[in-house]
Parts: sequence; structure tokens; C-alpha cells
Amino acid sequence: MKKIKLLFVIAFLGLGIVLSAQQRMNYQITVKEESDNDFFVELNVDKKLGKEATLFQFASTAPGTYQTMNIGRYVHDFEVLDKKGMPLDFEKLSVNQYEITKPKKVKTIRYRISETWDTKVDANPIYPMAGTSVEKDHAMISPHAVIGYFPEYQTNPYGVTLVLPENWKIGTALEKEGNSYVANSYDHLVDSPILTGRMTYADTLIDDTKVEIFTYSQNDVVKSKALLNAMHGMLAASKAFLKYIPAERYTFLFHFEPSPPAPTGAWEHSMSSQYVFSENNYSGDLSGIVQVASHEFFHIVTPLNLHSEKVEHFNFKEPDPSQHLWFYEGVTEWASLILLLRDGKMNIEQYFNELQQKVMVDGFLDGSWSLKDLALKSYTPRGQQQFVNIYCRGALIAGLLDIRLLELSNGKRGLREVILELIAKYGKGKPFPENGFFEELVTMTYPEIQDFIDSHILKNEPLPIKEYFGLLGIDYKKGGQGNSPTFRVKLKPTEEQLKLRKIWLKNL
Ligand SMILES: [Zn+2]
Repeated sequence: MKKIKLLFVIAFLGLGIVLSAQQRMNYQITVKEESDNDFFVELNVDKKLGKEATLFQFASTAPGTYQTMNIGRYVHDFEVLDKKGMPLDFEKLSVNQYEITKPKKVKTIRYRISETWDTKVDANPIYPMAGTSVEKDHAMISPHAVIGYFPEYQTNPYGVTLVLPENWKIGTALEKEGNSYVANSYDHLVDSPILTGRMTYADTLIDDTKVEIFTYSQNDVVKSKALLNAMHGMLAASKAFLKYIPAERYTFLFHFEPSPPAPTGAWEHSMSSQYVFSENNYSGDLSGIVQVASHEFFHIVTPLNLHSEKVEHFNFKEPDPSQHLWFYEGVTEWASLILLLRDGKMNIEQYFNELQQKVMVDGFLDGSWSLKDLALKSYTPRGQQQFVNIYCRGALIAGLLDIRLLELSNGKRGLREVILELIAKYGKGKPFPENGFFEELVTMTYPEIQDFIDSHILKNEPLPIKEYFGLLGIDYKKGGQGNSPTFRVKLKPTEEQLKLRKIWLKNL
């Protein structure tokens, strides 16, 4: 009886939280022509906030960035107002947190927040593609770097109204409802950057997926149409690799200017990706961008569909890394290149070239860091220095895992097939277990994969590149003393090597 009573109480409390949790959090972001450094943000509460909503939080980090951001550093003139516009008390608890004394009286929260690009900080500069910029003719809005939130209402719906200078185009994967762009949670909002201003536009259909491209190019050097033409083959190759594209629509947001802040690059989202490059490097040959776009686009698979609970319930209050970075970034980087090779969009010499560069970068970095170390220490200053290796050694190891799986399955099931099986089992809203994922991989494949994980993900033993590529009839020479490592197709492979190489190459 007692137990049942207790259950009723819990159910009732749960219902209370759900009811108050449903109100849409409505924000307005204003970009003023005369103020090209700041966003002016207002949260207006329609219904009363619950008394539990005492904490207003700015993001300490954001998914997929693996860096400490402390967005609270950019906030000014923070104000809490009641329905008569009178100021209410609050206390600043830490760089990212404000405590609100009487949440039930709150009508408006208002603040000014500086762009991350042009604001000098002493430590932890934010990657430009995960930051914000406001200029006379455009603005880049990464929502976690503009919008603070109540952790109590992380899973509420969100609405954002943009007040912009006249004639600015808006590029985002968010849907529009009336005047507002809407998201079904704070996580969804953060997952949907907005690029606005004087932009070119192009779109296409890849099967049923609508692909849109918005491009800001300060001196009109790069246009959306040219980017779309350059990326068309990659999009088709991605579709062939995955069999279908797990998104109804996808938005590419490109920002070009002569000297953007370093490091340039891109940031992935579930239905979009945001790119920052120098205009000077990309007036003609766009193949470098296509490779980056291939990587970001593949992120719709992992971590955006396939991820552990740590990514599913993201902790914006403090960094809490997942050990499976090897999968999110290493496997993605491997896939983004091999899908181009397998679909004939990249030849084998170009592919070897990519591998060679990755071996060389790995050689320059600290060989004592395992992929697990890279994951768990990515938020430390040392970790940030080593981080690039997740794209190098991480991708090499994913490639070796693919060959090992092909070898063990007699050519039937490589890493691509394992990924497709994982997509069928997990996916959006169904995270894999952070702690049981390695075990699961071994169970669904071969006992030998446990040794592979122990040696090359949990520890950092020398990579068996020569041995594994040898199985494909590809010779690998280590280089050293001023010589680069080399990969070469053997002229006289054995029958077995030739058979496995053909499968490896055309494994679609
Ligand atoms: Zn990535």
C-alpha cells in the first residue's frame, strides 16, 4: 500500500513538471545596424515560471565542439524584469550562471551579448564556426552563444524571433511558425545555427532530401551555385554509402571573408552545418571544401544519430566528455574520405595522399595519447593541443578496423555494414550505452575486435598499417629521416589480396 501511495505521489509530481515544462520559451534577438558587435536578447515569459526555475544558465560548452566556451563571458547588462518592467533581484553565481530570487514574478530577461569573433578573451577562444559574428551586412548566430536558458526548461519548446536590418536573407534548418523560428528543445535550438545577411542561395534534391546552400562571401568571391555544383558528387556518394540520407532536409551555411579568425573549418549539426573559410583560398578549386563538407555531412550518422547517452542528454552546465570520440570523429573522418574513393570521386593516389598526411601528423603529436585519452581530456589545454589527432590517428584506426572486419568476415562485413546495423538498432532518441558500447561491438562482430579496441582505442600501441594494408595488396613504407611514408598498390598481389582489395575498394 505504501509503495502504491508513493507511486501516486511521484506520478503526480511528474505531471506537475510536465505541465509547467510545456510553455514555449520565446526569445527575440535583435541585430542593430549601428551596433556591429552585439546581439540584444530578450526572453519574454508568457505564463508564470515555476518556483523551481531559479537558475539562468549560459552554455559552458556545446555538442561537437569539445572545447570550454563559458559563453557567460560575453554577457553584459543582464536584467530581470517583472510584468510592470520593474527590475527584480538576481545574483551572478559564476561566469555562466545567474540565480533569480523570485522566478514566479519574472516576465522578461534581457541582456546584451557580444560576438565571439571580435571580442578579445584571455583564454579559451571559441572556434569561429561555433561562435558568433555581427557586421554591417550579415550576422552568424550560433544559438548556444547567444541564448541563455533555464536548465529546468531544457526540454521545452523554444521560439526565436529575429529583428534584423532590412532585406537580410535568413539561412537555418529551423522551421518557421508565424514570425518565430521554432525548436522542440534547447538542444534542438543549439543544433540549428542561423546565418543571415547579404547571401547567395542555391538548392537541390538528393532523393527526397532537400539540400539548401546559403553563402555569405564578403567580396562575392564564392557563390552558392558553384558550391552546389562542386558538392553534388559528394552528396550522391554519401547517399550511395549510406543507402539513404537520414534527414528530410539539410542546410549548408558558408561564411567567407579574406581573413576570418583562426582556425577556420566547420561545425556539424543534425540538419545543417556551418563553415568558415578564407575567401582568398577558395576562388577556384573547391575540392578542399567538398572534403570538409563530406565530413560534416556524414555527421548526420554519428554523433547526430548514433551516440551515447552523454550526447543525447547534453550537459551544457559543465563539460562531460564521452569516451566514444573515436567513433564520432575518427570514424566520420574515415567514412568521409572512403565514400569518395569508393564512389570514384577520389582516386586511389589522392586517397593514399590523405592517409600519408594523417600518418605524418600523428608522428608529430604525442604518441602516448590513446584515442580514449583524446576523448576524455579534450577540454584541457593539453587535450586541445593533441585534439587534431582524432581526425588523423582516429581516422587511420577506423580504416584499420574496417580492414580487420573485412578480413574476419571474409569480405562480407566491413565497418560500413556495422555502422548500417547500428543505425538500424539505435538512432535519434535511442542512444547506445556509454559504458557498454565496446562490449556490444565485440558481441555483434568477432572476439578478435576486443583486442583491436584494447590495443588501438583504449591504449596506443603501434598501428599495424603495414600488416593490414598488406592484406589488400598495398605496400606501406614507414618513411622517417626526411622521407614521407608511402602507400603503393602492389603490382603482383596474391589472389587473396586482390579479392579483398576489390571488396575494400568497391564495398558499396
Ligand atoms: Zn567532425
